[in-house]
Amino acid sequence: MSELNLILMGPPGAGKGTQAERLVDDFDLPYYATGDILRAAIAEGTELGKEAQPIVEAGDLVPDELMIGVIMERFDTPEAEDGFILDGFPRTVGQAEALDEALDRRGRSLTAALLIDAPAEEVIRRLSGRRICVKNGHVYHVENDPPKTEGVCDQDGSRLIQRDDDKPETIKRRLSVYREQTEPLIDWYDQRGALRRFDGSRPPDEVHSHIRATLATLALEAEL
Ligand code: ADP
Ligand code: ADP
Repeated sequence: MSELNLILMGPPGAGKGTQAERLVDDFDLPYYATGDILRAAIAEGTELGKEAQPIVEAGDLVPDELMIGVIMERFDTPEAEDGFILDGFPRTVGQAEALDEALDRRGRSLTAALLIDAPAEEVIRRLSGRRICVKNGHVYHVENDPPKTEGVCDQDGSRLIQRDDDKPETIKRRLSVYREQTEPLIDWYDQRGALRRFDGSRPPDEVHSHIRATLATLALEAEL
């Protein structure tokens, strides 16, 4: 396979970021997580950050035009020539259409849409206990995957925080936004033959090896 163009889909808390960290190590691909990009913009107080902040805090979706702009400017960088991993984008049919067109125009195509799914009660438990490092967004869980020292990132020693939108009321809102606006994308990618499903309620190592096996099969098929 000459390129590996992947998107990660699934409800908030399903484990997209956790798996992305592993896939980035496996394949040495650039990783674009729109949530991380927005949180950085909010922390820096950029124009994008100012516009996004109230929307992200409410658990709603930032307008398509803004998000499409954020992703498109990253596509044409040399680091994304051999592929990319998108996490959290697309989240609406409008964003998926824009991605499709952008890839088309560049003579590229999506390798797969990886759907990591998990039941609502499990994602609520995960989001409530999630902690991230302020510097690079490395992900932990207070029970499932605690850091060696409480409140400190194992990887870069920075402080761990709870995201503002990982509070109970906002979690509920984000799940309903996911059901209404993002779930329709599952059929959208399925109809295009790009969807691959993974049981996100399994332990992280298992989910990871399932994804690896699926990508290996796709690579073999591409060579036939
Ligand atoms: P997403 O990017 O889909 O929102 P994360 O990767 O940030 O999800 O994971 C959400 C929370 O669940 C984190 O606290 C993470 O440590 C934990 N987690 C991720 N994958 C699993 C898993 N397979 N089993 C149990 N907990 C997990
Ligand atoms: P999670 O990992 O829990 O699924 P993200 O970190 O991907 O959440 O996103 C956090 C928030 O950033 C979303 O709730 C939304 O407000 C905003 N956001 C991220 N990506 C997009 C997108 N593609 N379109 C619109 N809003 C987005």
